[in-house]
This record gives sequence, C-alpha cells and structure tokens, in this order.
Amino acid sequence: MNDPILSVRELSKKFGGFTAVDRISFDVARGEIFGFLGANGAGKTTAMRMLCGLSYPTSGSGTVAGCDVMRESERIKRRIGYMSQRFSLYDDLTVLENIRLYGGIYGLSRRRILRRAVEILRRLDFRSESRTLVGALPLGWKQKLAFSVATLHRPELVFLDEPTGGVDPITRRQFWELIYEAAAGGTTVFVTTHYMDEAEYCSRVSVMVDGRIRALGTPAALKKQYAVATMDEVFRTLARGAKRSE
Ligand code: ATP
Repeated sequence: MNDPILSVRELSKKFGGFTAVDRISFDVARGEIFGFLGANGAGKTTAMRMLCGLSYPTSGSGTVAGCDVMRESERIKRRIGYMSQRFSLYDDLTVLENIRLYGGIYGLSRRRILRRAVEILRRLDFRSESRTLVGALPLGWKQKLAFSVATLHRPELVFLDEPTGGVDPITRRQFWELIYEAAAGGTTVFVTTHYMDEAEYCSRVSVMVDGRIRALGTPAALKKQYAVATMDEVFRTLARGAKRSE
C-alpha cells in the first residue's frame, strides 16, 4: 500500500499475564472507511486506544498519521480525532458551549471555532438547539454532535468506537452520511461497530477474535472467501470459535 495513514506491525498489549491484543499487523489507506470488527472483549477498544496514543503498546511498531506509535503519542493525539464509546460531551453544557470548549482544546482560533460551529449547527439541523443542554438531547443527536466535535478540527484520521451503539436505524443511517461526508472531505475513518449492515458500508474491514486479527479485506472479498451472502455470516463464522465473550 502506498503511503498508508496507519501502519502497524505485531502490535500487542498485555495486562499482567493477559494478552488483550496479540500481535496485530495491518495498514489503512488514506481516505478509507476502515471497519474494525470483533465480538465483545475481542480487544478492539484496547487496540484503538493504542492507535490513538492513549495507551502504551507492550510491543510492536507502527505509525499513525506519520507519528511513531511507541514514541510520539502526544503528536498522534494532536493529529487525530477520537470518539470513545462513552464519549464525554459535557451534559451540563449547551451544544454551543461544547463546540466552543472542544474547539479551544484543539487549539482552533475563535474565528475558526465560530465558523465551524455555524457549519455544524446547520449541517445537523441543530440551529434551534444551540442553547440546549447536551444532557437533554436524545442519544442519536448526542452521537451526531459527538462525531462533529471529534472532527471539529478536520483531522486527517478519526477513530470512532461503536459510535452508533443503541441508536435507532434512521439516526444510524444519518450518522453514516456524516461519515461519508467526512471521508469525502479527506478524513480517513476508522470505526468499530457491532452492526453488520454497517460493516457493508466500509471500504475494508478487519475481524478480530481473541486479540488477533483473523480476517481482513473488502466486504465483497470476505463474503467470497467464506462463501456466504452477508457480513453477518462472515462475522459469525469467525466469532464462533472465540474463547472470550462478555
Ligand atoms: P467491547 O466491544 O466490549 O468494547 P473490545 O473488543 O473493545 O470489546 P476490549 O475492551 O479491548 O474489547 O477488551 C479486551 C479484553 O481485555 C477484555 O477481556 C477485557 O476484559 C480486557 N481488558 C481491557 N482493559 C483492561 C485492563 N485495563 N486491565 C485488564 N484487562 C483489561
């Protein structure tokens, strides 16, 4: 792959004697929507936190957005966006206050924050809600806002950890429109999901089982490889032998 935005080799994370992520190796191309799949406990969040510079790998090597995963975690954090599973928008701040706060954390100028706030509120059709407390928003709205905040600074790469968990199908579809728009605008998207219909929307997916990457390819290639009609069947075939489940 030419000039991947993310490239890791034999990356592992151990917690005491337990290997949560076991020697994973893969590349992500610029502009891809990369689906990072795996059953509960497979090690996705642990792997993603290492890739975001939030957790130190036990061993392995790699680069994320041009930065070394072992040595340059602070630089990685500045160059990416991250939406965690329990993303911390502040419930007791308004929609606009959250945008302003994160714009400041990302180091954007006041003018740029204002411009992005207007864009986001318009895009999400949130203009009438700018002064609503985030805690009062329905989950799907919160998640769309959280995504917009994670990409406020237009990072080269954004990591999304189960962004649509528990969200209704219509809002999930709208959320994926936002993902496509970000990708079209030049942001590479790295996303975990439990919904296999969403796996079909990805350029490529990997499937993690018990800390290891067991399959990697386009949804079409994986379905062909496992001679099945849906990504759900690919996933179930691979996850069937999993030892970990939570
Ligand atoms: P989920 O979809 O439920 O978030 P996941 O694939 O993201 O699952 P992880 O959260 O990465 O899985 O967890 C992988 C394994 O590592 C699990 O068995 C978990 O219990 C274990 N684990 C995660 N964090 C720690 C920690 N800080 N200390 C010990 N074990 C941990």
